[in-house]
This record gives sequence, C-alpha cells and structure tokens, in this order.
Amino acid sequence: MKPQMRNTYVSKTVAALKPSGIRRFFDLASGMEGVISLGVGEPDFVTSWSVREASILSLEQGYTSYTPNAGLLELRQEIAAYLRRKFHVDYRPETEILVTVGASQAIDLALRAILDPGDEVIVVEPSFVAYEPLVVLAGGTPVAVQTTGADGFQLHVAQLEQALTARTKAIIICSPNNPTGTVLHPAELEALARLAKEHDLLVIADEIYAELTYDDGYMSMAAVSGMRERTILISGFSKGFAMTGWRLGFAAAPEDILQAMLKIHQYAIMCAPTMAQYGALEALRSGERDVAEMRSSYRRRRNYFVSSLNEIGLPCHMPGGAFYAFPSIRHTGMTSEQFAERLLIEEKVAVVPGSVFGQSGEGHVRCSYASSLEQLQEAVKRIKRFLARL
Ligand code: PMP
Repeated sequence: MKPQMRNTYVSKTVAALKPSGIRRFFDLASGMEGVISLGVGEPDFVTSWSVREASILSLEQGYTSYTPNAGLLELRQEIAAYLRRKFHVDYRPETEILVTVGASQAIDLALRAILDPGDEVIVVEPSFVAYEPLVVLAGGTPVAVQTTGADGFQLHVAQLEQALTARTKAIIICSPNNPTGTVLHPAELEALARLAKEHDLLVIADEIYAELTYDDGYMSMAAVSGMRERTILISGFSKGFAMTGWRLGFAAAPEDILQAMLKIHQYAIMCAPTMAQYGALEALRSGERDVAEMRSSYRRRRNYFVSSLNEIGLPCHMPGGAFYAFPSIRHTGMTSEQFAERLLIEEKVAVVPGSVFGQSGEGHVRCSYASSLEQLQEAVKRIKRFLARL
C-alpha cells in the first residue's frame, strides 16, 4: 500500500514558531534608499586591530584544527580571570567554563541541558527575541512576566512569584536588557536570589551587555551571595568587544550543569571556531582600553539621543546600559508596528516595534544608538518632523 504523502517534512514545533519580528521588518527596509537604521542590535565599531591581528597570526601559524570541546584552556583561563576581575565571581576554567558559538548558543545549550518536557521557564519581558523560541525548542514552556515603562522596566519579584508553578524550573533575566537598556540593581537581584533559593530555581543570567553599563554599581547575578550555585552566567564578545561576526560567547556555571551543556555542545558543534578563539584571547588580554573608549562613545550618544527623544515628545527613561533607547509612542495612538512602519515609509528611519519583544513592549519602539552622532542627529530631525505631522 502506498503511504499517504505528507504535506510537509517540517516538524510541528518548528512550523508553529513565529519568525523573528525583527527580520520581517528589515525585509521591508531593505531595498529602500537613504534609510537611517536604528534597527540593528550590534556595535558600529570594527573589532580592535590587535584582536584581528592575533587571529590572523593564529592562521599564519597554522592553528587551523579543532580546539578542545570546551574551548582553548588558555582562553577559559583568561575568561575565568576576567570574570573574577570584573564581576567578582569565581569559576574553574577546567570544568565550569564553556566557550560557545556566540551567547546565542550558550543560551540554547543552557535551556537544552536543564529542561525536561513541560518544564516552565519564566521569561522577563520585554525580552530578547530568542528566549521564548529556544525554550520551546528545548521542550519547555515559556511563561512571560511583564515589566512596564512606567518605572523604567524594573523587575518586581512579587509579580514574578505569582507566575511560579510546581513546574517552574528557571528564570531568564537579561541585564543590561535588550530591548529596554534597563540594568537590574543589586536590591532587585537580591530579591530575585531570595525567591530562587526559596523555590529552588535556577537563574539564566544573560549578561552579554555587562561591559556596556554607564553608571556605577553593576552587579552580576552570580555575584549575589548563594547564587553562584544556581546561576548559568551567559556572556560573550559580540557587544562589549564589538565582535558580533566572530560568533564567540561563553557560559559559566556549576560543574554538573556546565558538563551537561558540554555534552550537547560536543555532539552538536565540536568546538567554537579556532581562529575566533585566538582573537578572543587577545581581546581579554589587551582589549580593556578599547572597550572603555567604546563605552564612553556609547555613553555620549545615549545622553544626546535619549534627551533628544524626550525633547521632541517621545518619553524615554534613561537606560543604564546596552545601546538601546526604548521610548514610549503610546500617545500617538498607533501600535508600535504602525508607528515603525509609517516612520520607515514616510521618513526613512528604521526602528523596531516594541511588540516583537513581548506584550509589554507594545507602546514602545526600540532604537539602537550604535550609529554615528550625525546619523542620530538626522534621525532625531526626521522623527520630530514625523511627530509634527501626526
Ligand atoms: N543576548 C542578547 C540579550 C542579545 O541582544 C544578543 C544579540 N542581539 C545575544 C544574546 C546574542 O549574542 P551573540 O552574538 O553572542 O550570539
């Protein structure tokens, strides 16, 4: 008997995933001339020459084979020293640090390593677009907890507590946050730590923007007393070191979790690219000054851009980190998608509708200020003209 033909070979889980809202929007912008893009989430700097040179040198010297699955031991030692120096957290390079293909892969591994079917993961929204789909792909169930623009998207642990069930296994936080730029204060982290301990939960702390904080007092989740044992710390080189195309990140976690992540990594990926690892080694050894310069440049642009948005009538809290402004557009009466689409078509400024970051992102748009000051000035002029016409 002839088998019945399938409609598709694509899995039901994947078919049901929404495509990234950011992509859809940028397909619209591509092909338009003269667009100022405040849409992309990446630094506008080229990676430091010393980092590029170290990578080129590694190729010249013929280091073109696999590294250990967890990454070059030298690099893991540098990462451990960096985490100790900057964030006051201690990890053993031999067993508690894994070099990954971007922070993206580290998040994926973390979720796949800890989730059983039906486990719930709290995602604090507005959030980076990858968390919820990656939870689903790992067999878990994402549960959104909203934060709001009214208080600069601060985390209210009592609200988070209400979302817990017997199936809750982990909470994903991101500080500084994409898309809001909000940095979680030590008091919020401590409240979250109390909750995690009380309910025996793990925290996946995405700290990819930790280098880009503009005020004193940044604290890593893993540095909170008693949290090292229940945190998977995710970071990488893309943002602070301007290395998005290198695809290099890392995770630090207690040994049992890290080794579970490594098990998946060694089958799925083998190891992160060797030449990128040599570049990253140099970034950690000599990159501090360049990172500090980039940080002050972002800070200047943040100050100009956020105060300009407020002046032209788009209320925006002052973000403590990352390179995003997340102004409210609610008073225009448009949805964030309508606003972004009209702004693109009428004034050729590309921003991202807040709704793509979850329900509480609605009423806002994300504007990256990782653009030249001239471009930002021109964008402000155009947005002002757009608002005046409404
Ligand atoms: N986490 C957040 C919050 C991000 O914004 C991004 C990049 N947009 C990533 C992780 C992924 O970074 P990577 O390039 O290291 O994969």
